[in-house]
Amino acid sequence: MVSTRGENALRLAHTALGLLLASHPVDCAHCLKNGSCELQKIAKHLGVKLKTKRFRKILPELPMDSSSPLFTYDPNKCVLCGRCVWVCQQKPGKGVIGFAHRGFHRIVTTFGDEPVGRSRCQDCSECVVVCPVGALVFKARQADLTSIKR
Ligand code: SF4
Ligand code: SF4
Repeated sequence: MVSTRGENALRLAHTALGLLLASHPVDCAHCLKNGSCELQKIAKHLGVKLKTKRFRKILPELPMDSSSPLFTYDPNKCVLCGRCVWVCQQKPGKGVIGFAHRGFHRIVTTFGDEPVGRSRCQDCSECVVVCPVGALVFKARQADLTSIKR
């Protein structure tokens, strides 16, 4: 029988989360997913601090893509869950985004690494809806946040 709550399973979950956080720019106070982020929820569930120092921090420092009129894509916050790739694949004639590169350099991107606004993307925004973290967020929400701060 496989137990997902056993000591070994929990140790693996802690290690996986620690490795993920080691390459994640944790800045929840300035992130639009703050409060609804699944990474926050998992860390809370496992009793792990988001700013853990368990592993040496290595951040990817990739440029943000704001080329879509509706949403922004920050690859630095992507946790490579694949939900956006899957939902994009389900659309007829889509499959605009996919995984590229290997290991630490693995990212979600468009064919030819074009900015999403210059790709075949039709702005259905379903990828934004399924993203569990602050990697894909609606521009309208950013504008709302800016107006609230004024
Ligand atoms: S994606 Fe989640 S964990 Fe990362 S900065 Fe945003 S709210 Fe915090
Ligand atoms: S849904 Fe978000 S976190 Fe998951 S692979 Fe796509 S951009 Fe990354």
